[in-house]
Amino acid sequence: MDRQTAHILETIQNEFAVIVQIVESLSGLSSRWNGAVLLTDEVLISGRPCFRARKDWSCGLTVHVATIVQPQMHLTLVHEAFHSVSVGARRQQLEGNRGFEEGVVESLTRFHGLDILGDAGYPNRKSQAREQFDDFLEALESIRRVCRADHDTFYLGLLRTPLAERRYTVVKWACQTDPHVSESRMTARLSLALRRLS
Ligand SMILES: [Zn+2]
Repeated sequence: MDRQTAHILETIQNEFAVIVQIVESLSGLSSRWNGAVLLTDEVLISGRPCFRARKDWSCGLTVHVATIVQPQMHLTLVHEAFHSVSVGARRQQLEGNRGFEEGVVESLTRFHGLDILGDAGYPNRKSQAREQFDDFLEALESIRRVCRADHDTFYLGLLRTPLAERRYTVVKWACQTDPHVSESRMTARLSLALRRLS
């Protein structure tokens, strides 16, 4: 590894550690991040990077070389930090529940990201609109309206709920707003949004 790459990795590692700490205290959850950061230059056939950053299933953080020059980089780290504390987000559970992980993590990133970066001392001067996972966010927002929950009650509540149970949990929350509606009727009422979160 050349010196420049080593320096970049060390910087990201230090910054991610600070962000993870803030996300842990905000959520009351412990991160599974093992302290490691890897760089990758994997690209799709189109030549575009496969991803910005991702939590590996071994619980290291992998960052794409294309990401580190983007103004969005720090918000991407916030997004990954929320994944690292998300309860029960394992590969098997992700299948069929992707929106309940990506949507929840992305909503928390958009809602708290700039404050977290401010607290960390990395103000995001050039804040860009984030568009990834908009579809999941719309579906989750439509469910949140039925639950009549405020942002953090809903999204931090879901982050603290094992991923495999989030689908059932939102139905339960929605039912609490109207005791006359059965869980099966509520599931039917929310079915369109629930399907978009698969
Ligand atoms: Zn993600």
